[in-house]
Amino acid sequence: MRRGTNLPRVGGFNQMVVLDQVRRSPDGSSRSELAASTGLSLQAVSNIVARLIALGYVVEGERRAEGRGKPRTMLYLEAQGAFALGVHIDPVVVTSVLVDLDGRTMEKVVEPTPDGPGAVADAVAGATAAMLDRAGVDRSAVLGLGVAAPGPVDLAAGTVIRPPLLDGWDEVPVRDLLAAATGFDVVLDKDVSAAMVAELWRGNRMLRGTSLFFYTGFGVAVAVAHDGELLAGSSRNAGEVGHLVVDNDGPLCGCGNRGCIGISAAPSTLVAEAVAAGVLPRGTPASTPSELDAALTKLCRAAADGDAVASGILAVSARRVARGITVVADLVDAGVVVFGGPAWARLAPHYLPVVRRELALQATLREVHAVEVLGSAVGEHVGAVGAASLVLDGLFTPRPSGLVGGVATRAVAHP
Ligand SMILES: [Zn+2]
Repeated sequence: MRRGTNLPRVGGFNQMVVLDQVRRSPDGSSRSELAASTGLSLQAVSNIVARLIALGYVVEGERRAEGRGKPRTMLYLEAQGAFALGVHIDPVVVTSVLVDLDGRTMEKVVEPTPDGPGAVADAVAGATAAMLDRAGVDRSAVLGLGVAAPGPVDLAAGTVIRPPLLDGWDEVPVRDLLAAATGFDVVLDKDVSAAMVAELWRGNRMLRGTSLFFYTGFGVAVAVAHDGELLAGSSRNAGEVGHLVVDNDGPLCGCGNRGCIGISAAPSTLVAEAVAAGVLPRGTPASTPSELDAALTKLCRAAADGDAVASGILAVSARRVARGITVVADLVDAGVVVFGGPAWARLAPHYLPVVRRELALQATLREVHAVEVLGSAVGEHVGAVGAASLVLDGLFTPRPSGLVGGVATRAVAHP
């Protein structure tokens, strides 16, 4: 439970504590319940609630009896009180979403990734304008635009650093570029961190203990959360596990080692193995991200249709990934592991049973507690929804670090 503080200079923090509590109580909460759960005085809660009602983020509902006292007015989140935009930049597609204050997706645009940052910025500007238009949402009601990009990212500069398979993106100031193109405040983060924030937003499952999110796309990465907070690391780049060696006889990685988890799960590796084994015809186009993605889909479909060789290729990859997940889960004492990302829906039937079995048989901590392994609750567009959640998270989630400054992640939208 998040607690407020009655110190005078932390009004904004307390407002976030109260708003977060209202959001997580879909059945409504009264002012006195909020005071009890946040540790704030009833008077402080009443003042904050008055501000939140004036902002249009909270509405009063019915009066409800609580015990023997007089009936209390219930308070609810006004989901349409504000909105956030999210964009996920992936080598194959750019996904843009419009979400309401409750994090629900109202509109979505998925388009093939155009060549180069300038063309992507134009596409995002077009997609965001179209979504607002369709939803009938005024720009003034939008809190900002979140951007999820492959890691690592330099948040001080607002840039992405050598993202795999995104030519021309090295050290591009993506945050300022998208702020200029769209006119919104922009917050940038890694796709895996954004995905974890989306998962934390959508459910209560990962709010206690330590959880892992494993992202599978053209690269792999993990995010760690503890008691509902992302463990972001010194530069907000925690979770870059790509060179964790999981098979000494595995495929050769660009780093010089064999069997790193990133190269073991890479679509390029799986497709090359499928071509070599005759599952996919020789000459299967696999030089661009979208060709690789299409070839991966064919491999997964062959496995689903009963091709034993195709299933074998995916099973070997799953075992390698499972080995890495087991090490990381033991490292952070994870109770829950959630998988997601652009490749996940296709890999899930092959990976889930293998990862569950490996954790049950090999994890050091298996005798202390089980590890739950789940697919993303948010689904295929977890990167984009996560990007939008970053904006909402900045508005809602109380973080003591915010009181002493923290990392500045907002760009100036209107130069
Ligand atoms: Zn490597």
